[in-house]
Amino acid sequence: METRKIMGDSDRYLMHTYNRFPVVLKKGRGIKVWDTEGKEYYDFVGGIAVNTLGHCHPKIVIALQKQAQRLLHVSNLYHIEPQIKLAKLLCMNSFADKVFFCNSGAEANEAAIKLARKYAKEHHSSERFEIITALNSFHGRTLATVTATGQEKFQKGFEPLMPGFKYVPFNDINALLSSINKNTCAVMLEPIQGEGGVIIPSDDYLREVRKICDAHNILLILDEVQTGMGRTGKLFAYEHYGITPDIMTLAKGLGGGVPIGAMLATEKGSSAFQPGNHASTFGGNPLVCAGAIATIETILEDGFILDHCNRMGKYLMQSLEELKNDYPSQIIDIRGKGLIVAMEVNGDGMSFVKACLEKGMLINCTAGNVLRFTPPLIAEEKDIDRLIDILEEVMAR
Ligand SMILES: *Cc1c(COP(=O)(O)O)cnc(C)c1O
Repeated sequence: METRKIMGDSDRYLMHTYNRFPVVLKKGRGIKVWDTEGKEYYDFVGGIAVNTLGHCHPKIVIALQKQAQRLLHVSNLYHIEPQIKLAKLLCMNSFADKVFFCNSGAEANEAAIKLARKYAKEHHSSERFEIITALNSFHGRTLATVTATGQEKFQKGFEPLMPGFKYVPFNDINALLSSINKNTCAVMLEPIQGEGGVIIPSDDYLREVRKICDAHNILLILDEVQTGMGRTGKLFAYEHYGITPDIMTLAKGLGGGVPIGAMLATEKGSSAFQPGNHASTFGGNPLVCAGAIATIETILEDGFILDHCNRMGKYLMQSLEELKNDYPSQIIDIRGKGLIVAMEVNGDGMSFVKACLEKGMLINCTAGNVLRFTPPLIAEEKDIDRLIDILEEVMAR
């Protein structure tokens, strides 16, 4: 009864921007969540790559409690200790020299686009503002980032879009090369296309992209909003490819569940932003930074989480491959890196998602027929076994 009323109010008072499942999630611990009826679920969505350390990890909860008692918010007119500490942690563990904090992935990408444009105008010419992105990409829902997103379905109805964006097929070096001209200011890519269906480029793609950017003095922006923070088994996905970007964006897993975004850049790139050029009221707020510090410190402790993520990712892929051998007509492909893993199915992915939900397993579907698994990085073999059992039950039907 209570659940029906809550969902009724949801329909009545919330804008219909989401097709929600008929479930109200109320509590979470580790990889599990419970709804208002007391039903238990394994969470292989993990807030879509947000709940890196699982639900209500004690280190994050305690850090947030402590910070909430000390200081919730002050303006960026003043120095903020947790923000500085988090920026230092990010710089010490990445290519970056400087960080700008905001509140979401889209905002981080907005900041990256603005920085790249300003940099190119100052170092090259005022005509140099074109940003090349990939078809099938996803960079956010604000007007600039939805324009950067190379998928018409997200853009329809919001025209006119932002000028200055161009799209090329992902993982196609020649297409990139031939789309560059004297007005190209940056190339912006996801190292692995997440929303686009967990598309993993060939091993040398990003290295070739880096070379082209260097040869033409073009900035390379990597959108690691989904792939960052240990998701792929390294702290950042670019580390797999032996390159570094000039600018990188983070959000999703950065706060382990609290809303925070960041745009990181080299010293040279960052210098284009001066006081007054960009800002965010909440960006790098003490509370969310305390959550993000606890998250990144826990991930980096002894490299335990990253090792574990690699092992569990392999175990999950291997288990899915076995399932594919048993159900070759239903499963088209298995792919992934670390714990961003996809199973491409024959037919509508949503029917799988619904059947799994009924059986107490939360999974996600993207790009129509791609089941995506982005569980907390603390997922264990027995959790993965449970996922496989349920997928098998659904396949067998
Ligand atoms: C989710 C996502 C975004 C957008 O992040 P929001 O926090 O929803 O604005 C941008 N880029 C990538 C790669 C994402 O996966």
